[in-house]
Amino acid sequence: MANTPVKTEVPPSALGLTLDDWIEWAESKKQPKFRAKQIVEWLYQKRVRSFDEMTNLSQDLREQLSEQFSLGFLPVARATGSQDTTRKFLFRLDDGRFIETVRIPANANFDGDRSGRITLCVSSQVGCAYACKFCASGLAGFTRNLEVGEIVSQVVSVEHETGEPIRNIVFMGMGEPLANLSRLNKALEILNSDWGMNIGARHMTVSTSGLAPQIEKLAEIPRQIRLAISLHGATDEVRDQIMPINKKYPIDRLFEALETWGRYKKQMITFEYILIKGVNDSPDDAAELARRAKKLHAKVNLIPYNTVDGLEWKRPDEDEQDAFLAVLLKANVTATLRREKGHDIDAACGQLRLQEETAEGIIETVF
Ligand code: SAH
Repeated sequence: MANTPVKTEVPPSALGLTLDDWIEWAESKKQPKFRAKQIVEWLYQKRVRSFDEMTNLSQDLREQLSEQFSLGFLPVARATGSQDTTRKFLFRLDDGRFIETVRIPANANFDGDRSGRITLCVSSQVGCAYACKFCASGLAGFTRNLEVGEIVSQVVSVEHETGEPIRNIVFMGMGEPLANLSRLNKALEILNSDWGMNIGARHMTVSTSGLAPQIEKLAEIPRQIRLAISLHGATDEVRDQIMPINKKYPIDRLFEALETWGRYKKQMITFEYILIKGVNDSPDDAAELARRAKKLHAKVNLIPYNTVDGLEWKRPDEDEQDAFLAVLLKANVTATLRREKGHDIDAACGQLRLQEETAEGIIETVF
């Protein structure tokens, strides 16, 4: 059956190892430590396409590497969009599953940034277990965590496909990154380290639906990464309706974790807040959101809801969106309303939904 994921014997990706892992590997092969440096240089600076190109390693060592590891480039099953627009890559994983990675040009990116940088929206899991009522990613349920190499490789592979360096990453693709925390941590190390992808910690945003204990754990890692909270409701009443995670970690528990975060990290926290008609878009909701944002000195990204096939939710009218924003601004909260790019582009992050596998094994995705 074309749509049954194929189990293959592909070895693990070399992109999933940290420098320390490579040192351990080199030592296990009775090699000097500096081999580890040589290997990561081939992988991340020189971007070799085969272990054979690692010419300062012995033939024997290169053979051992290629027996134990794959180079980890992800094959593109499909790409849509162009250089200037949001571009979506559908990558095929070794087990036949698919993930989507979205490249967002500067004029359309997460913070309305106009500095000419490109942001990559990266997936952390195949599917999602958190079942937010408005989100397409969770509709098909959870399949599995991504491996470290599969996370890093989304960045390496998109750079390879486009020839442009990625300087910003948001973990807003499919999945809940904090439910895959140990692998996320390792991926962040590889992406951030100067021996690896060398992407500034401040240019990496982890987005979560609100896994409070994991936020506290992530706060302790010594990197000044950014945190975005998919809040979408400023009261338990609203959040309980649309985000099942709120039953486990109600809003006060979540905010306790955010205060912990604030003690470790310098950057402002971002609240993502989808405006959903009749659910969370009243002036009272705005006032409560303003109160909560001020308390934490957080900024707010308002995102008019993007309709998802099969779901009933709708975005409020533009004047209601403006009125909601006005309440926040009047309360001196830093807030933006991302509207100008329309449904297709705004929808780029977070609504990845694997809809169906075709006879070729390609998955249709909707944004
Ligand atoms: N699980 C993490 C990472 C996914 S980020 C998290 O929840 O933060 C995906 C972002 O897109 C989240 O803020 C999510 O709430 C948002 N999103 C999901 N469905 C959406 C929709 N239909 N319209 C607009 N934003 C949506």
